[in-house]
Amino acid sequence: MLEELTSKLESTFRRLRGYGKLTEKNIADSLKEIRRALLEADVNYKVVKDFVASVQKKAVGEEVLRSVTPGQMIVKIVHDEMVRLLGGTTATLKTAGIPPTIIMLVGLQGSGKTTFAAKLAKYLQKKNRKPLLVAADVYRPAAIQQLKILGRSINVPVYEEGIGDPVKIAFNAISYARQHMLDTIILDTAGRLHIDEQMMEELVKIKKRIRPHEILFVADGMTGQDAVNTASQFAERLNFDGVVLTKMDGDARGGAALSIKAITGKPIKFMGVGEKLEDIEQFHPDRMASRILGMGDVVTLVEKAQETIDQEKAAKLEQKLRKAEFDLEDFLDQLQQIKKMGSLESILRMIPGVGSQLKNAQVDEKNLVRVEAIINSMTKEERRNPKILNGSRRKRIAMGSGTRVQDVNQLMRQFEQMKKMMKQMKNKSFRGFGGMPFG
Ligand code: GDP
Repeated sequence: MLEELTSKLESTFRRLRGYGKLTEKNIADSLKEIRRALLEADVNYKVVKDFVASVQKKAVGEEVLRSVTPGQMIVKIVHDEMVRLLGGTTATLKTAGIPPTIIMLVGLQGSGKTTFAAKLAKYLQKKNRKPLLVAADVYRPAAIQQLKILGRSINVPVYEEGIGDPVKIAFNAISYARQHMLDTIILDTAGRLHIDEQMMEELVKIKKRIRPHEILFVADGMTGQDAVNTASQFAERLNFDGVVLTKMDGDARGGAALSIKAITGKPIKFMGVGEKLEDIEQFHPDRMASRILGMGDVVTLVEKAQETIDQEKAAKLEQKLRKAEFDLEDFLDQLQQIKKMGSLESILRMIPGVGSQLKNAQVDEKNLVRVEAIINSMTKEERRNPKILNGSRRKRIAMGSGTRVQDVNQLMRQFEQMKKMMKQMKNKSFRGFGGMPFG
């Protein structure tokens, strides 16, 4: 996510921090670089201009120049301005006083609206809400079918009437939700390839009649300023409440994320960060600014770990580690827990300082798959007691997992190293994912 922008800003900051003393020229040069980086990231021209002007105003102050670490001070100023640009504080979803809360999703076709509907349902489910997905895209039977499949995969009911009047469907869905004690309705409305008057009229009508508590505009983050322009038009007609930026995992530049609040006045509330239904993140301007500036995002990382890692298993694992009884079955278990947290790359990027190192190195997800295949090809006995893995067993395992004997050997070496490390930390409290063979 946003790696291009991050790497440019990081190199500017590295230089800035390196100067013992800052001169007006150093600052002006850095600002020029920041300006260029933002423009190349497809951030709106006016937004960039205001941003740089406001950093400049603060950066040339006496206080900064006279401080012990002027470079650091400027980095902080850029960070704070970026937080402001991204919306300042975290914007949350509104909820109804009397359920059900109605959340209406709007956006162009292909923006990731239907996928997001299911992601949001799953997200709310984890927060003990009882969502109902409603298929109000009455023009595309395929979209209704897609929603049904997604709903089934996460055990969330889907209300649909096939082709019909979306307002009537929404009303019926509200009754259905009341009857079935479902507290949140997620309305997936019809999108078109481009903005057209008929679609807008329909959405305005649904808004007027149904009065949703929250309207979220869903946009493909990768489309940069196109997303911002579409958002402006939707904002004008529909006055929605918040933005969802999808496909941020594929967005190296970040133009939409950095412009949309300033241009439309509407905050970003969620991001889609992958194709899987757990790839959704609430949008936190401060955390996002830290990520963009290459400072990582430890808070989100810890939250993800807490959410996905099975606490009971973690406790058991800790006990085993204390006794240094860790075997390959536990190893496999741990691997699977990490995979649940999302793509390996997205996890690693949240660790401060790792982002820039990853820049050119592709994280080898295949390696994880390979490790899993190798362990899966072992017998229970072999997993519990890896010492018995002699040459012929290793050969068999390599054949069975479609890997090479070297791969098996490498894994065993890594596993031994990890065990050694764990023995050393035996007396410390240790949970979760240490020393995994990442790639
Ligand atoms: P809709 O037409 O707006 O309902 O769009 P869909 O939900 O069908 O999504 C369009 C495509 O984008 C599908 O192939 C999705 O898998 C993909 N997609 C949606 N959200 C994300 C995301 O956050 N990341 C990635 N990489 N792909 C996504």
